[in-house]
Amino acid sequence: MALRLYNTMSSRIEEFHPLRDNEVRMYACGPTVYDYGHIGNFRTFVAVDLLRRFLRQSGYKVRHVMNITDVDDKIIRNAARDGVSVQQYTAKYEKAFLEDAALVGIEQPTLVRATEHIPEMADFVAKLAEKGVAYRTDDGSYYFRIAKFPGYGKLSKKDFQGMLDGARVDVDEYDKDSARDFALWKSPKPGEASWDTAIGPGRPGWHLECSVMSMQELGESFDLHAGGEDLVFPHHENEIAQSESLTGKPFAHFWFHARFLLLEGEKMSKSLGNFFTLRDLVLKGHKPSSIRYLLSSVPYRNQLNFTFDGLKQAAVSVERLRNFRLRLGTGYFPAGANPAMQSLAAETVARMTAALDDDLNTAQAQAAIFEMVRQANAAFDTGGVKKDDLAPLLAALAKFDEIFAVLVDDDGPKMKLVMNWALAEGRDKEISEALREAVQSERLSDADIENKIAGMKAARNARDFKTSDALRAELSAAGIIVEITRDGIRWRRK
Ligand code: AMP
Ligand code: ZN
Repeated sequence: MALRLYNTMSSRIEEFHPLRDNEVRMYACGPTVYDYGHIGNFRTFVAVDLLRRFLRQSGYKVRHVMNITDVDDKIIRNAARDGVSVQQYTAKYEKAFLEDAALVGIEQPTLVRATEHIPEMADFVAKLAEKGVAYRTDDGSYYFRIAKFPGYGKLSKKDFQGMLDGARVDVDEYDKDSARDFALWKSPKPGEASWDTAIGPGRPGWHLECSVMSMQELGESFDLHAGGEDLVFPHHENEIAQSESLTGKPFAHFWFHARFLLLEGEKMSKSLGNFFTLRDLVLKGHKPSSIRYLLSSVPYRNQLNFTFDGLKQAAVSVERLRNFRLRLGTGYFPAGANPAMQSLAAETVARMTAALDDDLNTAQAQAAIFEMVRQANAAFDTGGVKKDDLAPLLAALAKFDEIFAVLVDDDGPKMKLVMNWALAEGRDKEISEALREAVQSERLSDADIENKIAGMKAARNARDFKTSDALRAELSAAGIIVEITRDGIRWRRK
């Protein structure tokens, strides 16, 4: 069965097929690097990561491009406030974003930066002006004339009848219900960063970068464009208007939008004090794997209400999966196969795939693996899991983890990185006792190591090299050097 995805453009669930061959070309709007990312941002980035992983698991080659918005109103304002260049200001937060993305297991897309594409953006504006869809104002700014694009509003389904031709807005974020000619290019203001280009000095408006860089990397028409639901209007609507006016071709085929995350039932807001970055949560002692698990547990189009109870529950779920795998690696199993276990594993794989094919129903996929764990655990206790059942059970777990990526226990070293960052930033007071304890107990005991080595041996005997490699990665993350020799597996501490 093919993947069915909701397409914001058609407002329907459609079968997904790439436009060209077996390759999926997808673009996701990335972070504006003016501060640390919050868990709402990562809700969307994790959703896109799950999509990318599932497309790959479905047999597609995936080209995934993400932009880094490293120039916009807020960045320019903050850089000027701190008396540093835009580049100096954003470097810190771009680095932090990449570290945070790795923290929650996001595979890195091809990154493109706005400030590295300024001449191409100016060129794009010049072409729009030639076509008569962009105009220059007295101060040297350029605006897109939305009255020239009849399809304006087709993504957000807003009715812009009676809009004012020529009414303009020059800020990047504007009133959600007003259709105005939007800024493509902004003339320099005193004290603000600007670039000299073929269309004069200035800087790009926010929407421009995604049109220019996505088409440069992926072609004029590509498969899928993603972001959080707030981007539907005006950002994506404006991207479509710019791109399709220039090329005369459909821009993205599928539009994928993740619903906004709520925190304890409310909109996240700094002033209400219910606002968390990923690092805030780790500082409180929560594991990165619990955060990833929670962010992926609610299908991307449903509202995820992030609660601390939910986070604790997620930690229990991850622990259960890890323990199950350890049990498969270290338990005693009588020879032979149990047909019930064999079909349980096969059915679980089929259920997971069917769930994810159904508009990425991550909750159902997780339910399927837990049903397998429950039934297999019950069978263990009565000797119902046989030696030859290990390979299919491990394979089902591995298939699950190709998408959810929580089985490798690398929480300790990741938490240590966050602790070191807090110390370096002089934020010692924010380091909780729970985090200190987690980092201290990170050192594995000899018995823990022997357990994992036994798990590796069992996995290798079942020719499940993925599991063996995953266990080896866990050991290596904890500073254990593992050598696989003809005589067996040896280990030593670094
Ligand atoms: P920004 O850095 O503000 O440009 O946002 C980066 C990404 O995070 C965009 O795709 C936003 O739509 C998304 N985003 C922002 N806030 C939330 C939220 N509360 N829930 C889900 N996604 C969000
Ligand atoms: Zn964008």
